[in-house]
Amino acid sequence: MDEEFVHGGEDGAFRGFAAIAQADAEAALPRRDTQARFHEQDSIAPVRASWQGPPMSFQGLGLSEDVIHAVQSMGYLEPTPIQERAIPVVMSGKDLMGSAQTGTGKTAAFALPIISRLQKHGALRCLILEPTRELALQVEEAIKEYSRFTNIHQCVLYGGVGYGKQKEELDKGVDIVVATPGRLNDLIEQRLVPLDKLELLVLDEVDRMLDMGFLPQVRKIVESCPKERQTLFFSATLPPEIERLTKWVLKENPEIIEIGQRRSPAETVNHALYPVARDQKFDLLVALLQKTHFESVIIFARTKFGADAIAAKLIEEKHPVAVMHSNRSQSERVEALEGFKSGKYEVLVATDIAARGLDVQGVTHVINYDVPQNAEDYVHRIGRTGRAQSEGDAFTLMTGEDVDEVRKIEDYLGKPVPKVKLEGFEYLYTALFAPPVKKKRRR
Ligand code: AMP
Repeated sequence: MDEEFVHGGEDGAFRGFAAIAQADAEAALPRRDTQARFHEQDSIAPVRASWQGPPMSFQGLGLSEDVIHAVQSMGYLEPTPIQERAIPVVMSGKDLMGSAQTGTGKTAAFALPIISRLQKHGALRCLILEPTRELALQVEEAIKEYSRFTNIHQCVLYGGVGYGKQKEELDKGVDIVVATPGRLNDLIEQRLVPLDKLELLVLDEVDRMLDMGFLPQVRKIVESCPKERQTLFFSATLPPEIERLTKWVLKENPEIIEIGQRRSPAETVNHALYPVARDQKFDLLVALLQKTHFESVIIFARTKFGADAIAAKLIEEKHPVAVMHSNRSQSERVEALEGFKSGKYEVLVATDIAARGLDVQGVTHVINYDVPQNAEDYVHRIGRTGRAQSEGDAFTLMTGEDVDEVRKIEDYLGKPVPKVKLEGFEYLYTALFAPPVKKKRRR
């Protein structure tokens, strides 16, 4: 046990029991190492592992007492970098453009000051747009937690389910709506979402919304909102289409906050390519699962059809498997995710719908059954493991047809991904392991 760490003189005395208990739990980690990772990744450092000056606290950020009480009761000891920077901006009423990815504490970075500003139940004053139903549900859940000591009401609106319950919630009166664009537009057209008192608009994961073809829907929603409002805009990347949108949607000179433009996967993820002949992909997957001590693994497939096929075969192999993709009904998706989180299913087979944002604790392995077509998705997919400082492994199966895609990923990361051969697996020939043929010079 590190003496200074626990008994840090005056410093230690001020930290309180929760911090010391957490510090004890973390003492196994070398302190420098933890602190270094915290800064490099700009991601969550759930506890402060070394003592270097006064801790940043939630107290000094202008949040309401009720909200501070809520974060304390959730065990957050200090704000993450994006929270530290974004909370004062949101509290000040300024527009904000943030580039931060999920896993950095982004939700609380906007939710905590929003709840603090709304204070108590009144009219619909805040609208939060999310690209997928899962993210919308996750954000609504977080808001519920953060506002538990207030009487603020929130609801979540997304497609694929009946309108009844959502209309009922709107009817009762809510302060915050979290929604996906399609269903929200539907309900706006039916004049069921009163936007006249709206003060805050949050556009979250805008690049993902663009990927999913939601841009026209988002524009329509923004047009329905009052012009005098505060807008918070989050996008991990800023392609020209999104940049144009920011100019239109944000006031001039918004505050710009860039956190953890993470091109490289978290250091806590070991990742490798597993070259294999196409006909042996599934056999290699089964062999990897057999040889790996995993607790929970997400397997990514490129298509919905592919995800279903892999899941069916794994079920034949007696693995408890859940499937998640956009053709599954909402209740099936919720059941899959809940079952995976609770440990009922040890394997979740998913398309990229699950790649971003989902905060599932304790995913020990990610397997890309198919190489992602988009280099950024590679980082997002493997970011599902190794979250919040725990170690994770990510394997990507690669066939001869994937060479170009892998090259793009390596270019994006700025370095090659190691190629690994699974010991004891009977490989058919694949040129991917063959040494490069030296070209003979012609005379
Ligand atoms: P997000 O990036 O919003 O998806 O958050 C990722 C995870 O970090 C969630 O499980 C949050 O509950 C957690 N989290 C957010 N802020 C903090 C904090 N200040 N300290 C510890 N955990 C946090």
